Amino acid sequence: MVLYAVRLQQLSGADVAVDKETIAMDKQFSVLVVEDEDHIRSILEYNLKLDGFDVRVAENGRKGLELVHQRYPDVILLDWMMPEMNGLEMLSALKKDKQTENIPVFMLTARAMMQDLGTALLEGADDYIVKPFDPKDLGATIRHKLGKTIKS
Ligand SMILES: [Mg+2]
Repeated sequence: MVLYAVRLQQLSGADVAVDKETIAMDKQFSVLVVEDEDHIRSILEYNLKLDGFDVRVAENGRKGLELVHQRYPDVILLDWMMPEMNGLEMLSALKKDKQTENIPVFMLTARAMMQDLGTALLEGADDYIVKPFDPKDLGATIRHKLGKTIKS
């Protein structure tokens, strides 16, 4: 969009306004997916890459935390039930640390686990995505939720 607007400007000489919102939508967001189920992790990785995200993946909370500290992501998609360190434990570690407390965390939640979401939200999760999700909509959903999270 931004490139398109700049190109338009070059072509027409017109003063094409590029607003902040457009720039925010065009930023390449880096997302860290922390999910222990291989097929779900692969679907997320594949579709979000296709959608232009910079994607890294981890199969449990402990590895997820390592990756967070190597390079801070713009958003973390965090599964709940995982071996070694579960999503709630990772969330609590993130929120206790000044370096990571402001990274938005979206919980990946099975519909059957919805009643437990309150706990995650109390612990500081910013939003949630219900599994199963439609992979095609996922990028747009994440951008939309991030837009709300960053503005608020
Ligand atoms: Mg799991």
